[in-house]
Amino acid sequence: MKEKIDRKLEAKSIKPTAMRQLILEYLMESRNAVSLADLEDKFDYADRSTLFRTLKTFEKHKLIHCIEDGTGSQKYAVCLDACEVDHEDFHVHFLCEKCHQTYCLYDVEVPAIKLPSGFTPEAINLIVKGVCHACR
Ligand SMILES: [Zn+2]
Ligand SMILES: [Zn+2]
Repeated sequence: MKEKIDRKLEAKSIKPTAMRQLILEYLMESRNAVSLADLEDKFDYADRSTLFRTLKTFEKHKLIHCIEDGTGSQKYAVCLDACEVDHEDFHVHFLCEKCHQTYCLYDVEVPAIKLPSGFTPEAINLIVKGVCHACR
């Protein structure tokens, strides 16, 4: 696992510090997207701003993507290895209204949306709400 983590960091040109390794490991082990508050619970010895900065570094290097699921707190999920630029716009997110977990549905493509002329799309944030398989 540790090698895998270092490889992932290296592949995105991120210097592997101890904190970054731990946070990436946690993100990779979570089945769902995690929020800054989740990280604060898990790493209660770490400084909030350090955690936030780490997330932002990961996001900037396209290692993770940020999800706005309408709950008011941003959540983050590890990108697939195959993902390159702007991958985050191309899969659907699912918010379970029972357990409030956010899932990345990588196999579900965002449907093409036809906009009126004069409008240029730059990102699509598609959240499907419902009940997840674990809560069903
Ligand atoms: Zn659920
Ligand atoms: Zn996602």
